Amino acid sequence: MAELILYNTLTRRKEVFNPLHPPRVGIYVCGPTVYGDPHLGHARPAITFDLLFRYLLHLGYQVRYVRNITDVGHLENDADEGRDKIATRAQLEQIEPMEIVQRYSDHYHKSMDQLNVLKPSIEPRASGHIPEQIEMVAKILDAGYAYISNGSVYFDVEKYDTKNHYGKLSGRVLEDLLSTTRDLDGQEEKRNPFDFALWKKALPEHIMRWNSPWSPGFPGWHLECSAMSTKYLGDEFDIHGGGMDLLFPHHECEIAQSKIANGKDSVRYWMHNNMVTINGQKMGKSLGNGILLDQMFSGNHPLLEKSYDPMTIRFFILQAHYRSTLDFSNEALQASEKGLSRLMKSIAMLPGLAVSNETTINLDIWKTNCYNALNDDLNTPILIAHLFDMVKMINLLSEGRERITKPDLDILIQQFHQFTFDILGLREEQLTTGESELLPKVMDMILSLRQEAKKNKDFALSDRIREELGKIGISIKDKKDGADWEIG
Ligand code: ZN
Repeated sequence: MAELILYNTLTRRKEVFNPLHPPRVGIYVCGPTVYGDPHLGHARPAITFDLLFRYLLHLGYQVRYVRNITDVGHLENDADEGRDKIATRAQLEQIEPMEIVQRYSDHYHKSMDQLNVLKPSIEPRASGHIPEQIEMVAKILDAGYAYISNGSVYFDVEKYDTKNHYGKLSGRVLEDLLSTTRDLDGQEEKRNPFDFALWKKALPEHIMRWNSPWSPGFPGWHLECSAMSTKYLGDEFDIHGGGMDLLFPHHECEIAQSKIANGKDSVRYWMHNNMVTINGQKMGKSLGNGILLDQMFSGNHPLLEKSYDPMTIRFFILQAHYRSTLDFSNEALQASEKGLSRLMKSIAMLPGLAVSNETTINLDIWKTNCYNALNDDLNTPILIAHLFDMVKMINLLSEGRERITKPDLDILIQQFHQFTFDILGLREEQLTTGESELLPKVMDMILSLRQEAKKNKDFALSDRIREELGKIGISIKDKKDGADWEIG
């Protein structure tokens, strides 16, 4: 089989993927900052790296996939000054910051389950790794690449840049940064505006704080990923992923911190998914046009014409290459919904196809085409196009215009399932959206007929309706004026 080729953001080229210690592969992906309900912007990196995780597992690698939860140190505007996003939310809702973290981590996990995203191997929280972060700050100070200022510790970017290139991932150079970095309040603590915080002394009102050799405070946002990736994957590991919005400054700072603390470049392949737009506009962080995943699933948002299943969202995201921008529009989503249903219907048809004593379609070429697409930097739109080529073939088979033997049909079923369910991570929804809209109406009708039977003292019929519904998994609770129903 052909080799897996991945686009490395660092070298700006496609490279053959050679893990450091095969068959083991280490992946680190920057996870969510948990201070609000999960939205569309969370779905894309999760699904992109879930695809990578699934494909590497499919290829037989032993993958340790680390995806963190940011629960401290991420300040408003992604800056070094200001309020902690989680603490702000906690104050707003008048509960403990860790209650906010729990609530929104749980919500994030629920949404990821709905999108059929596999759980990572390790999901570390920043607040659970304060000693590791303090240790890393001390190492960087010892190496002479950080300085203490008023109880806070800053990374000395200028010194680092004399022997390294700060900006190599995002293609920036320090001189340009100097002219574009804004002077913000509180930056007088820094020698240079582009220096970034490793440790921040907590202001009196800042409730999330820990003791450290420098001050009671909290780690800088970028530090957690360097500390936790080193802890769980070692000082050099295979793949680091995240959304393109994290390229600068977050990942640039991670590279610099890890290089000084570990004495080497830690990451071999950097991968970034592109951003999501809504009706052609960048998704606003203020959630002005930021649609929550729950709103997508329920259709309860002014920009949405209807609800969309989690699998429609997943399929829609996979229909674009992860390095292309992806525009969410009702039209495009409805096209995906139709496409997905066509794909699923075709899969359902497979076991019932008539078999013949010869095979007239070329399964080997089809399979090679599918793998070639995946191996070419996870080109899912091309893979999906090949799956639809096979959908056409399956229709021809069902019409008797092509033929297939029993052994070949078994192979086709197995491979189609592998690409669709194991690798793309799609699954059959219990009901399509259209059907799920229909079900309540059908139930209303059945229950009103049952009510009529009761009124006519035909208890045998009303009991039978209850029993028959029970057999298909729908239970009924009688009320004064009718009945409620639920699945399960
Ligand atoms: Zn990170």
